[in-house]
Amino acid sequence: MNILMVSSECVPYVKVGGLADVVGTLPKYLKKQGHDVRIIIPKYRSIDGVKYNLETLPYRLTVKVGKEQESFRIKTCLLDGNVPVYFIENMRYFNRLGIYGDESGIGYGDNRERYIFFSKAAVEAVKAIMFRPDVIHCHDWHTGLIPAYLKTTHANDGFFWNTSTIYTIHNISYQGSFEASTTLPLAGFSWEDYKSDKLEFYNTFNFMKAGLAYADIISTVSPTYAKEIQGPAGNGMEVVLQVREKDLFGILNGIDYSYWNPADDKYLNAKYSSSDIKNKSLCKKHLQEKCRFAVDEKAFVIGCVSRFDSQKGFDLIMDTINKVQHLNIQIVVLGSGDMNIRNGLLYLKHIYPEKVSVWTTYNEPLSHEIYAGADAFLMPSKFEPCGLSQIISLAYGTVPIVNKTGGLADTIINFSKDSLSGNGFVFDFSKGEQCVDAVINAYNVYQNQTVWNKIISNAFSSNYSWNKSMEQYENMYNTAVQKRTAYTIYQI
Ligand code: ADP
Repeated sequence: MNILMVSSECVPYVKVGGLADVVGTLPKYLKKQGHDVRIIIPKYRSIDGVKYNLETLPYRLTVKVGKEQESFRIKTCLLDGNVPVYFIENMRYFNRLGIYGDESGIGYGDNRERYIFFSKAAVEAVKAIMFRPDVIHCHDWHTGLIPAYLKTTHANDGFFWNTSTIYTIHNISYQGSFEASTTLPLAGFSWEDYKSDKLEFYNTFNFMKAGLAYADIISTVSPTYAKEIQGPAGNGMEVVLQVREKDLFGILNGIDYSYWNPADDKYLNAKYSSSDIKNKSLCKKHLQEKCRFAVDEKAFVIGCVSRFDSQKGFDLIMDTINKVQHLNIQIVVLGSGDMNIRNGLLYLKHIYPEKVSVWTTYNEPLSHEIYAGADAFLMPSKFEPCGLSQIISLAYGTVPIVNKTGGLADTIINFSKDSLSGNGFVFDFSKGEQCVDAVINAYNVYQNQTVWNKIISNAFSSNYSWNKSMEQYENMYNTAVQKRTAYTIYQI
């Protein structure tokens, strides 16, 4: 099958969150199954053309954004030596320091134009390179317009007559909602398309709604989140999703165990594995030194690697930090994003310097050191479509403490003292259970090293590889292909 992924992020080239991991990893597994998979992403300034050996293809293409003709070029390289990646290069929209916004976390004012341009350019690029996809797999709001283009402006374009579209929701809170009367002409749609069963969403033009209304199949990144977004967690999209329930798949993300592997992790001074864990304590010591904590084997070290976003439950994290100061707990947080969260954490570091360490950048090597060096990993998200960090921490034998929501509920099983089963600690915030209680419970269990080692072993044996999820993706792609007819407009 010919599969085209279109996304605004993809590891190793550009990563803001888990979306990048998915788009950079799933194709490698699909390729192994014999599919011809290709990826299109923007050529952001931070993507190093020399490092990745980018080759410029001999096309000069243009698309219209409103009345302006925007030209672009296509650069290309191979991901892992065998998956072609195409980079859409345009100076005006992508040659800037940030990805979605500036350093302060404020989004760029022209993100609407940027991703209209990108979506149109992706559609033209795939024609230029003569890759006729059976499926175009679109990710998140940045690419939500592509399914709409295929069923409107490109409905008569024979190139796409056998192309199905899939739209995947990685996070329903980022929808790309804009004022309609200016967005419609910018994006090249007509008022005909601006109906409640198409692009319109509560009097706005909504990119995600476009994806949900026009894609042949919709998916999201965990079975529980697929259910949750048909209810109050749907951020207004619940009714659309209820109507399209039969076309909605919930498939758990996997991680790349060859990359997230403590036995062969280039960022770790000391390597370890599930069968020989003793060097994990060296990673802990190293992390304690780095954070200027007391080097104390008995201290319970909790790690957190996350975007600074209210979704991630930082109010609960800060509350917990305040309430566990009487215990031998050390907490290290790495993240970037929202300034209020950043400042709140830095304040806690200031008042508890011996117990709290806060790192406010995006730092891949340090993230690995935290996954390896911590005893537990705190992730009390208010909602979590899938979550990769808890799965990564399982791979490092670092025990997750999570709120029971979305993909966290699908991957972490609460530890039971009776059966010694479970790979982490789970509290249910919706039922009034508290994060701090879960942390204290984990701390108490940690005091018995034999029991704690059993949880570590349960964590190591939890496997969320792409091999499992990939079969479900293949099944979804087949369903999309069977469903496709050029003019299918879904009744929503
Ligand atoms: P989300 O996609 O909502 O940000 P996920 O848990 O799905 O959350 O994925 C987060 C990914 O981003 C993980 O791989 C995590 O290690 C990484 N990450 C988040 N913040 C940072 C940071 N400041 N430095 C390094 N890696 C980070």
